[in-house]
Amino acid sequence: MQKVLLVTGASRGIGAAVAVLGARSGYAVVVNYAANRSAADAVVRSIEQQGGTAVAFQADVAQEDQVLAMFAGIDQRFGRLDALVNNAGVVDVVARVDEMSVQRLRRMFDINVLGTFICAREAILRMSTRHGGPGGAIVNISSAAARLGSPGQYVDYASAKGAIDAFTMGLAKEVAAEGIRVNAVRPGLIETEIHASGGLPDRVRDLAHLVPMKRGGSAEEVAQAVIWLLSDAASYTTMSLVDVSGGR
Ligand code: NAP
Repeated sequence: MQKVLLVTGASRGIGAAVAVLGARSGYAVVVNYAANRSAADAVVRSIEQQGGTAVAFQADVAQEDQVLAMFAGIDQRFGRLDALVNNAGVVDVVARVDEMSVQRLRRMFDINVLGTFICAREAILRMSTRHGGPGGAIVNISSAAARLGSPGQYVDYASAKGAIDAFTMGLAKEVAAEGIRVNAVRPGLIETEIHASGGLPDRVRDLAHLVPMKRGGSAEEVAQAVIWLLSDAASYTTMSLVDVSGGR
């Protein structure tokens, strides 16, 4: 039977690239999205046109009831889950810490951290040999920001991604003997719409000179690392934080 991959936040950007490459690698892909149904449907269509299998599922990863409904839908449709990519994530507009509202901080940590925890928990309940599952692999999308701190821009976002790094290391050890590998990918400056959503559409171009390779990366370059970590080629790799950041 075909292996099943769930990619959160797969309606565009890095998530969409992971979904497409995952389908090319043989997975049936669940394309999760929060709001943009037509974009998620377009990703599904593109996978189907290439001969793959995909289905779109709406769920705001920060809303437990929606995540539970999505996993129930996956159980019903596929009856298995082999791989999870916790990719859904947001930035906010540029601000200093002394300007950040609690409302902003809650949204940042709810989506980027809590959402990752809830989706991983539901995946482990299905994958872990402790729960009768066959094992599996999880990749969390962190950020180079977790190392850099993003002063003057997004210290909240960088802190949330720091939490993802710690989560990856702790969870990897917790489930290592239960057939599940857990790794993270830390992208650097990648050409996606996330920068415009934070009010800086030219961010990659403006900051490319800070990258040793002198350019931004593509969503596909990140997806290659993610799909390798999910694959059997990475069978002895767990608890790794893989930088895909042009040397920065
Ligand atoms: P993007 O282009 O803004 O896409 C974000 C995706 O996440 C969309 O598909 C969006 O779906 C979905 N999403 C947002 N909030 C969600 C929620 N609450 N529940 C479910 N899905 C949600 O972002 P990206 O650049 O591809 O980033 C993907 C991941 O890489 C994020 O975790 C980000 O932090 C990380 N990252 C990106 C960069 C970069 O330079 N681009 C660098 C380092 C790390 P809808 O449109 O349907 O809402």
